Amino acid sequence: LTPVPSDIAISRAQTPKPVDQLAEEIGLLPEELEAYGRSKAKVRLSLLDRLHKQPDGKYVLVAGITPTPLGEGKSTVTIGLVQALSAHLQLNSFACLRQPSQGPTFGVKGGAAGGGYAQVIPMEEFNLHLTGDIHAITAANNLVAAAIDARMLHEATQTDKALFNRLVPSVNGARRFSPIQISRLRRLGINKIDPASLSAEEISTFVRLDLDPSKITWQRVLDTNDRFLRKITVGQASTEKGQARETGFDIAVASEIMAILALADSLVDMKNRLARMVVGTSRSGQPITAEDLGVSGALAVLMKDAIKPTLMQTLEGTPVFVHAGPFANIAHGNSSVLADKLALKLVGRDGFVAGMHSFLQVCFGTGADPNAMTVVTPSSFLFTHNNTDLFVPACSRSVQGCPAEQEACKCFLVTSSGVNLLPVTEAGFGADIGMEKFFNIKCRASGLRPNAVVLVATVRALKMHGGGPNVSAGAPLPKEYIDENLSLVAGGCRSNLRKQIQIAHLFGVPVVVALNVFKTDTQAEIDLVCEIAKECGASEAVPCHHWAQGGRGSIQLAKAVHEAASRTSDFQFLYNTEMPIVEKIRTIAQKVYGADDIQLTPEANAKIDYYNQQGYGSLPICMAKTHLSLSHMPDKKGVPTGFVLPIRDVRASIGAGFIYPLVGTMSTMPGLPTRPCFYDIDLDPVPALYS
Ligand code: ADP
Repeated sequence: LTPVPSDIAISRAQTPKPVDQLAEEIGLLPEELEAYGRSKAKVRLSLLDRLHKQPDGKYVLVAGITPTPLGEGKSTVTIGLVQALSAHLQLNSFACLRQPSQGPTFGVKGGAAGGGYAQVIPMEEFNLHLTGDIHAITAANNLVAAAIDARMLHEATQTDKALFNRLVPSVNGARRFSPIQISRLRRLGINKIDPASLSAEEISTFVRLDLDPSKITWQRVLDTNDRFLRKITVGQASTEKGQARETGFDIAVASEIMAILALADSLVDMKNRLARMVVGTSRSGQPITAEDLGVSGALAVLMKDAIKPTLMQTLEGTPVFVHAGPFANIAHGNSSVLADKLALKLVGRDGFVAGMHSFLQVCFGTGADPNAMTVVTPSSFLFTHNNTDLFVPACSRSVQGCPAEQEACKCFLVTSSGVNLLPVTEAGFGADIGMEKFFNIKCRASGLRPNAVVLVATVRALKMHGGGPNVSAGAPLPKEYIDENLSLVAGGCRSNLRKQIQIAHLFGVPVVVALNVFKTDTQAEIDLVCEIAKECGASEAVPCHHWAQGGRGSIQLAKAVHEAASRTSDFQFLYNTEMPIVEKIRTIAQKVYGADDIQLTPEANAKIDYYNQQGYGSLPICMAKTHLSLSHMPDKKGVPTGFVLPIRDVRASIGAGFIYPLVGTMSTMPGLPTRPCFYDIDLDPVPALYS
């Protein structure tokens, strides 16, 4: 429709097909599905075992140029691309997206279900609680925090013997260690399993974690942009007997447990990573883990359902996995390894894509008229046959009255086998952060290798990088962004776009530039971006109209991506993890961000020395840096030069498996703007929808 209705109006106008029907279409067995309502379901990991012999499809990453605070449409492009691939080109494809945090949903940017005619539906279910994974992470994270403070209180107020008697209670007259306690004893070098056989010294070593309150690195989390929780004092009630200490909250998606969810490749791997998480240091300088606190088994139980990816669908009925949601600025910014692995296997299975062409061929072959059929699930797109626009459904099973329905289904199996197959996964913010971490952290952890990168650009962001005034959320766009301005566009292309293409080429992967077209863009601006992008080394650069037209508007992109992913890529990592931590940080700062050098505070240097001593020196690096500039200064657009990157602090996420430097003033708990998105969110209590 023109003008394009609001995202929520479009989402509501489409009835999603039942999730068990979608699951059947993509080849899941009923026992592999756990439905959460009508339109979303968790997928059991046993599917990976069943499909382990299936070859993987091609692996495509969607990244972007440095964005404006409004977002440049990476999620929207990802969804438009899979709609075009699946519903219009008959190529099996899957979108793997992150679960949005409530922070941006109610804060500056809004939801992340895509937009216009390229969305995941139902969008309010996608944007809010989904299947509860972020709530599970919050619960698990805060259980660790509560365990830390309670343990310090108990150690401060009890003798060794009293602690031991409570930690190893007597059941039926005998004390017995739990498996988690036996594991801690082994790490302490105490190879005994009979509690009665421990010496007084061993008992003291076992019961006293002796956490140094000034060296606790674990923070509490909340999935709300609540800046007043950045620094807090806990333990102020008289019942906590002088145990007050300063700590703070991070946003839930920055929790190490979120990173673990995104990087684990099995339940066992997740459990081991949760146990390894380091929460602080003892007064004698030893790292203290979640397992030392005895909480790691409970964490695994809290997270046992969260580890299963959630299946949803696009507006055009094609499959989507939603799983994990770390931000790319203050975390590693990618959806889960497990969702990508499942999608890579599933696209390899013949014939699940709702094949438009084969459906129509069968209809025409049998004399059935697709226009005369009753559409049960209204479709959102058109298909052109003999220059006539036909309104047809995404899946034959949503149509009644087709005499050839069975034939159509068989035909899908024939026509879609042997084609190239693409799951499309999205990395947050600009390629300098989301994509760099996708390659150096996620691909290292998963062993998966990408075949192509789609780099999303918009005319508005290019104009900003070319010297246009700053763009801010909630304020009207300045005139330069509404009128044609070729010199600003060219400036942005020759600066930020060129640099982001070069960054992708550092990893040896072909780049397709997707220009996400807005209604204010002129043809001359669109042509200019595509021309310069190719000059800058993109293998192809195409305008995309999925926001206004659905998958049909991204067919050119789908063809370009299919072509690029079919070539051999020459993937390589940016750095060897055996390099010293400081050298790895310097490599990212210089080669990716364009910094002259890095400068570490004494505190950051001391932490790096400590991590080296503890044997964590060979982990990859996850930089916490602003997404609004290639540098650490959010207002420096284009390609900033002549700066030294300040490293304020360095943390270690041992369970997730990375070293986490904090750049400049980067905060791990965002704040709300003056007019947050929640002003535009309201409940219309229509009984049919909510009761
Ligand atoms: P990103 O994933 O890069 O952060 P999104 O895909 O979430 O960006 O898009 C950000 C916002 O911009 C969404 O509200 C979306 O509806 C809107 N948007 C994206 N593409 C377009 C477009 N071509 N025209 C108008 N609005 C768009």
